[in-house]
Amino acid sequence: MLDIKKKFLEHGITPSMQRLLIYQYILRERNHPSVDMIYSALKKKAPTLSRTTVYNNVTLFVEKGLLFPMLTETAETRYDLTEHPHSHFICSQCGMIYDIPSVSCGPGQIPEGFVTAKTQVYIQGTCKNCRSK
Ligand SMILES: [Zn+2]
Ligand SMILES: [Zn+2]
Repeated sequence: MLDIKKKFLEHGITPSMQRLLIYQYILRERNHPSVDMIYSALKKKAPTLSRTTVYNNVTLFVEKGLLFPMLTETAETRYDLTEHPHSHFICSQCGMIYDIPSVSCGPGQIPEGFVTAKTQVYIQGTCKNCRSK
């Protein structure tokens, strides 16, 4: 909890109980949640929390560089932590989004004259769990 407070202050975010709860959830679950997923998981714990509050805080975290919106084809925007660079494997059967080691997209693959600002690599397929069912 103290570490998160420190992180918030470093990123210019005023720590509040609800912000801590939301960020802690994302940190703990590592499930690349949507606003609805966060809201459904936390509403029992924090009955005063509204969907709008979750949305506003997630947007703030994105603005301050703690989260980024994922470019997935899912109906709702999913969010991920900015802390470790990695790529993603999306299971088309169960919808799980897995972290996988960064798939490199080196300078050799980008045409000359183009400058990369950020890279998001997604691989779609069937995960280990679904294959063994
Ligand atoms: Zn799966
Ligand atoms: Zn991830």
